[in-house]
Amino acid sequence: MKPETLLDAVDILTIPHIVTTRLDDGTKHFEQHDGLIAQLRQAVASSLGRTESGRSDPAARVPVNGEALIKYQQIEEAILQRFADVTERVPGLLPEDNLRAWYVEFHRYAKEPEEIAERDILKGWALWIREQFDPPRVRELVDSDGNAAACPECGFDWFDQVLNRGKGWADVQRSVALTVTYRDDERGGLTASFARCGLCGQTWHGPQGIRELAWDLENKK
Ligand SMILES: [Zn+2]
Repeated sequence: MKPETLLDAVDILTIPHIVTTRLDDGTKHFEQHDGLIAQLRQAVASSLGRTESGRSDPAARVPVNGEALIKYQQIEEAILQRFADVTERVPGLLPEDNLRAWYVEFHRYAKEPEEIAERDILKGWALWIREQFDPPRVRELVDSDGNAAACPECGFDWFDQVLNRGKGWADVQRSVALTVTYRDDERGGLTASFARCGLCGQTWHGPQGIRELAWDLENKK
């Protein structure tokens, strides 16, 4: 799998792309999605009572909140800033156009570490937007008897998770220590997924990490 470039991150935010979903019966389902910035804008617009006609309505899939509007404005602003850093031209109306125009200029002189730093920021935006439409699924790690697995790092299987705390009180929930968070990486794989202990914070990233944890748990029995 080739590493994602800055241009890949720009593309996913700005132009339509094909999303592959692996269905339970093993077949694959292909769907064309708008660029993520356009999806976020449409969702915000329809939550404000405006719709862009003739499009599949992402807002139908997601309850968009005030946070989404703020995030959209932050992204728009951050892109305008980047655009102004590289050119004196008047920016366009759409953040997608400005981001692509910025990329062309930036890519001319940027060194690899700068490109990687920008790529990671853009990937952060993409992840945030994607999770508005498709929140990650979190599964507790329990064995076939329903017993929680003990974390190989801290040894706990359950812990008291503090949900909220004030002076002299705490809202505590008894929780399974190990969970796996499945996150769509848009390639039908586990590269964006991870397992984590909610108590000690130990995290196992991607397919390799999750496999290692599974192996550990298997061999502890
Ligand atoms: Zn732990």
